[in-house]
Amino acid sequence: TFKAVVVDKQDDRFEIGVRELRLSDLPEGDVTIRVAYSGINYKDGLAATPGGRVLRAYPMIPGIDLAGTVVASSHPRWREGDEVIATGYELGTGRFGGYSEYARVPGDWLTSRPPGLTLREAMLVGTAGFTAALSLHRLEANGLAPGAGPVLVLGATGGVGSHAVAMLARAGYDVTASTGKASEHDYLRLLGARDVIGREALQAPEGERKPLRAERWAAAVDPVGGPSLPYVLSTIRYGGSVALSGLTGGGEFPATVFPFILRGVNLLGIDSVLCPAPLREALWRRIGTDWKPERLEAMEADELALDRLPEALPAILKGGVRGRTIVKVARD
Ligand code: NAP
Repeated sequence: TFKAVVVDKQDDRFEIGVRELRLSDLPEGDVTIRVAYSGINYKDGLAATPGGRVLRAYPMIPGIDLAGTVVASSHPRWREGDEVIATGYELGTGRFGGYSEYARVPGDWLTSRPPGLTLREAMLVGTAGFTAALSLHRLEANGLAPGAGPVLVLGATGGVGSHAVAMLARAGYDVTASTGKASEHDYLRLLGARDVIGREALQAPEGERKPLRAERWAAAVDPVGGPSLPYVLSTIRYGGSVALSGLTGGGEFPATVFPFILRGVNLLGIDSVLCPAPLREALWRRIGTDWKPERLEAMEADELALDRLPEALPAILKGGVRGRTIVKVARD
C-alpha cells in the first residue's frame, strides 16, 4: 500500500485526509510514476475546500503538479527510470493527482525533467512558474522586448507573481512588483524587482472611472484580475499587453473599450492547463536555462509531507503565502 491525500464529498459531508491505497486503486493509464515531489497552487487550495468548484469527481486525490520517476510504462515515449513532470490537464481535478506516492497518468501528459532543474526544483516552479513562463512567452510573442519600459507584475509575492518577477528580471526586463504585503518589499527586490508598489496604488480612487490614464507600463503579468485590471489596462503604454492568468482579486472586472481601440492594448488570456505539448516542452526548457530564476531557493516558503496537507492546503486561499510550498511526497 501507499499513502495519498484523498478528498471526498457525499451529500453535505466534505472530508479530506491521508489514506492508504493500492496500485489497483489508481485509474487506468499508460504510465505509472513514483512521485517524489509536488507543490501547492491556489487551485489545490480550492480543491481542498467544500465550495472550491475545481474537482470534477469525488473521491479525488488533489495535486495539479507532480514530479517523479516512471516505474511502469506501455507508452512508446517513456521507460522505467525516466524522470518526468506533469502539470495541468485533468491532474488533481478530474483524475488522481500528485498528492500520492504513486500516480498513473496518460503518457501524453508528461514532460521530461528539463535539463537544469532537479525534480524538486521543478516543483518549486510548478504550475505557478510555468504560468509565469507562458505569460512571458505570450507577451514577447505580442511584441514585448527588454528595453520597452517597466513591466508590472501583480500579486507579486504569490506563486505566479514571484516566478514572473524572477523570470522577467532574468530575461532583462525592468520589473515593477505590486504586492499587498508591506513586509515583503525586500523579498521582491531580491527576486529582481527594480521597483515595488503597494496593491492599493492600482485601485482607482472611489467613484473615478477614467478609461485612459497616463501611459506607464510596457506590459503587465496579472494573476489577480478583479477591480485592479481596468485600472492596469488604462495605464498600459501604446501597443502593450496584459497577460491575464488569475482571479485572486476577483472573477469580474468592469472595463471600457478605450485602451483597446485607442491604444491598441492587448488583453492576453493565459491558460496553462491545456497548453499544447510542444510549447510546454519548449517553455520548461527555458525555465531550466535562460529564464531560470537566479534566486529560485528564495521562493521556497515551506516543505511539507503529505500528512500536513489537509490542514495546510486551505491556507493558500487567504493570500498570505509568500512564494511556493513544496510537497515532499516520497518518504526517505
Ligand atoms: P498564490 O500563490 O496564492 O498567489 C496569489 C497572490 O495574489 C497572493 O500572494 C497575493 O499577492 C495576491 N492576492 C491575494 N488575494 C488578493 C486580493 N484579494 N486582491 C489582490 N491580490 C490578492 O496563488 P498562485 O498559485 O500564484 O495563483 C494565482 C492566481 O493565478 C490564482 O487565481 C490561480 O487560480 C491562477 N492561476 C491560473 C493559471 C492559469 O493557467 N490560468 C495557472 C496558475 C495559477 P500579494 O500579497 O503580493 O499582492
